[in-house]
Amino acid sequence: IQPRHPAEIDGSIFCLPDFLFKFLVIGNAGTGKSCLLHQFIEKKFKDDSNHTIGVEFGSKIINVGGKYVKLQIWDTAGQERFRSVTRSYYRGAAGALLVYDITSRETYNALTNWLTDARMLASQNIVIILCGNKKDLDADREVTFLEASRFAQENELMFLETSALTGENVEEAFVQCARKILNKIESGELDPERMGSGIQYGDAALRQLRSPRRAQAQSAQECGC
Ligand code: GDP
Ligand code: MG
Repeated sequence: IQPRHPAEIDGSIFCLPDFLFKFLVIGNAGTGKSCLLHQFIEKKFKDDSNHTIGVEFGSKIINVGGKYVKLQIWDTAGQERFRSVTRSYYRGAAGALLVYDITSRETYNALTNWLTDARMLASQNIVIILCGNKKDLDADREVTFLEASRFAQENELMFLETSALTGENVEEAFVQCARKILNKIESGELDPERMGSGIQYGDAALRQLRSPRRAQAQSAQECGC
């Protein structure tokens, strides 16, 4: 992606997106959330050898129908193991990937609890895409595609089966969720100006980058362009 609005701040070149969305990745431990984030950002499977390096945060600029959207994606960083995913994690998220493992019914059964938390603790209008991960392990499947699609429909979620291992549908999951948010902004259903919407315009992103603390933390690599 070519940066459309390149800007120089403190000697570094940044590309300014049209929008900035906060995204979450939620679901039971072991479903592959960190691997999905890693696959999306790095375009490769995170093998177990670097398992201890908990990715807590990733960002990437994507092009959605001609608009540049910067996704700031938060990973639970293992908090879900202790059932203590904090309120601050959820606050102001515009979108979320809700992940279960197609080979584990237990992780599927937990979806309702995750949904309740997301809708209560994030924005009421949060756009959620359900991801049935580990699609590559079809032989060990415990949850059918049909069953999960019905659940998604009943709960107004988008739905995809993904594989962080092969990369199948990983980019699509993030892009589809971002596209739905953009559509809601264009139709007026979502108001980016509202506090806690999890959405900022690009010029607000610039203001954020200009603040000294942010500018220091931001590296050209993190910019994702
Ligand atoms: P998290 O606890 O939800 O963050 O899950 P991780 O990303 O740490 O992954 C848990 C385990 O599932 C690891 O052993 C991964 O290698 C494995 N895993 C994650 N995604 C996939 C996938 O799509 N296919 C397969 N076969 N294994 C996966
Ligand atoms: Mg993890």
